[in-house]
Amino acid sequence: MGVLCGKRKIAAGSRQSRLAGGIEERRTRFAGGEELLFFCPSRPDVHRFWLEVYESFLQRYDVDGLQLDYIRYPVSLPVEKGFCYCDFCRKQFTLNYPVDPLTIDPASDPEIRKQWNRYREEQINAFVRSVHELLKSRFPEIKLSADVFPIVEESRETKMQNWGYWLKKGFLQEIFTMSYTPDVRTIKEEAIYLKNILPGGIAGYVGLGPYQGFRPEILMDEIQSARQANTGGVCLFEFGSLTPEQKTALKLGPFRLKAKVRSWK
Ligand SMILES: [Zn+2]
Repeated sequence: MGVLCGKRKIAAGSRQSRLAGGIEERRTRFAGGEELLFFCPSRPDVHRFWLEVYESFLQRYDVDGLQLDYIRYPVSLPVEKGFCYCDFCRKQFTLNYPVDPLTIDPASDPEIRKQWNRYREEQINAFVRSVHELLKSRFPEIKLSADVFPIVEESRETKMQNWGYWLKKGFLQEIFTMSYTPDVRTIKEEAIYLKNILPGGIAGYVGLGPYQGFRPEILMDEIQSARQANTGGVCLFEFGSLTPEQKTALKLGPFRLKAKVRSWK
């Protein structure tokens, strides 16, 4: 069983957290100027901070893997709600393009807008690459995984999260989609999509969202759809919010056989 760490938003969200000390100037900003308790994904000091946290964590604790959650920008559409327009990001972008990102009009400047999206995507890519390199050099037995939005094209457009690239570059050993919907047909499509995009040797799990409280029959159908697509399996988000009816159905149905607790070591 893996221990989940690297909850960027949670660590940033607690003002009392020792991890979050001194983050005031590192927060991300809406296009409208408003701040969010979310680290700016472009700043090298934010990258260094998290790499030090991971390194320290992995030195101290005997874990199987490291999972990156919220490994993306908070949101990018609509444009006025997009991130990150902090002073650092705006300045960095103007080093290559003579345009302040705040002034980009997607309707009249689609090409620049594309470059701005690409710039932001590369910040996330660089961080994932750095984590991969840290693990490869210092902790080669630790598997790296990430939680991602189910369709790469949409994930890139709305979150600057290009997980197709991470898979292609071999940064991850496992991936978990966040396919949180009561629509079984969507789960089926997303499971097949995941299966088709996975490189050999990489495990992909369809993350289902029973926390939304849908009926046990729907959860059973979703698990069956994911299994039929022959992905690595399913992941349920999350155990603490399963209803008694969902638990009973899981116990009598898809998880009626005693599980072998997986270990990579
Ligand atoms: Zn920024």
